[in-house]
Amino acid sequence: MKRFDYFEPPTLDDAIELMQQANGRASFMAGGTDLLVEIKEHIRLPDTVINIKKIPNLDYLTYDDVTGLKFGALTTMRAIEISMLVQEKYAGLAQAAREVGSIQIRNRATVAGNICRASPSADTLPSLIADGAAVKLYGPNGERTILMEAFFTGPGKTVMAEDEVLIEIAVPPPPPHTGKVYIKHGRRLAMELATVGVAVALTLEDNICKQVRLVLGAVAPTPIRVPKAEAFLQGKIVTDEAILAAAKLTQETARPISDVRSSAAYRSEMVYVLTQRALKNAVERAS
Ligand SMILES: Cc1cc2nc3c(=O)[nH]c(=O)nc-3n(C[C@H](O)[C@H](O)[C@H](O)COP(=O)(O)OP(=O)(O)OC[C@H]3O[C@@H](n4cnc5c(N)ncnc54)[C@H](O)[C@@H]3O)c2cc1C
Repeated sequence: MKRFDYFEPPTLDDAIELMQQANGRASFMAGGTDLLVEIKEHIRLPDTVINIKKIPNLDYLTYDDVTGLKFGALTTMRAIEISMLVQEKYAGLAQAAREVGSIQIRNRATVAGNICRASPSADTLPSLIADGAAVKLYGPNGERTILMEAFFTGPGKTVMAEDEVLIEIAVPPPPPHTGKVYIKHGRRLAMELATVGVAVALTLEDNICKQVRLVLGAVAPTPIRVPKAEAFLQGKIVTDEAILAAAKLTQETARPISDVRSSAAYRSEMVYVLTQRALKNAVERAS
């Protein structure tokens, strides 16, 4: 492993100052489950690693009915997975966190790290986007908030500046009668990255689809929403026929590639199958 300078700054301002001093040769680290693997495999070779884990008050999880769920940069996958509140109100997100790696990984890995790594197959991104989540960034010019669906620009790329830290994830409260689902498909059941991920958040009113957000992971350079399928379902009774048609529109929107994990054709077929399953489950949960 290449040698690097290692810092544990006590405040966010110290972390940002260290990043600025490193002139683009530093990386922030939270759980290190992505970063350390990338350093070992020579994918990233920072001269400086800035571990933010010692910065206090970044590992909270709060909820109220008006502002919704808020959690910090150091809140782990495991904390999200086992939270009864997240399981009840954000079932897709709880499921996505549960799907990540192993329990050891989930005890170290943060959701913020999953977001900042910006892998197209990252498990928590589709559910967070389906839930309408936003991220709060802190940098030299203060704070700014960005909707997660506008955060990713390509594999490993985001709109975040190098000297910004993601400090908080905020997820709006779910309207009544909302069903949330995340389905991950991989080659194995555990310790596997997604071949396809499908997240749905669907709200019913008198059996009619009042609002739906459908998001795919691992089938495009970034997680993608499927506006055509969402618009098709909105205002309709979600019958089996409507689900089939929405799944077809979703399959047409996906832009899968072939790689070591799957062929593009298989991914495309799985989008069709899993979208139907996710929509059916979401309708059941919403009713
Ligand atoms: C064995 C194994 C299995 C895995 N399985 C899965 C899986 O099934 N699904 C999945 O989605 N992922 C998986 N991962 C990837 C990884 O665990 C997740 O992406 C994890 O959530 C990353 O969080 P972290 O805190 O460890 O991030 P780190 O490794 O510390 O950081 C990741 C990236 O984000 C940046 N960063 C971290 N926090 C911040 C912040 N607050 N502000 C700015 N930048 C920040 C770092 O600079 C780095 O670029 C796996 C990893 C391993 C090693």
